[in-house]
Amino acid sequence: MMLLPCPWCGARNAGEFRYVGETGTRPDPATAGPEQWRRHLYFHVNLRGWVRESWYHGSGCRRYFTLERHTVTNEVRTS
Ligand SMILES: [Zn+2]
Repeated sequence: MMLLPCPWCGARNAGEFRYVGETGTRPDPATAGPEQWRRHLYFHVNLRGWVRESWYHGSGCRRYFTLERHTVTNEVRTS
C-alpha cells in the first residue's frame, strides 16, 4: 500500500488520489506554437529518480497539490 501525504487531510491511501502528471514549466501562451504545446502536453521526461508531480485528492478534500516521488521506490517527499 502506498500512502500519499495530502497537505490538508494527512497521509491517505493512494487509491483516494488521481495522478495528474509531472509538473514543469508551462509554455508562454502568447508565444508558444503548436509543436511546443504538443511537446508540453504529451511528451514527458519519465525520469528514473525523483520527479515533481501533481496529484488530485478526489476522495477527500478535492484539492490539487504537488509532491516529489521517486519513480523506482515510490518514496514520497514534500518540499
Ligand atoms: Zn486531501
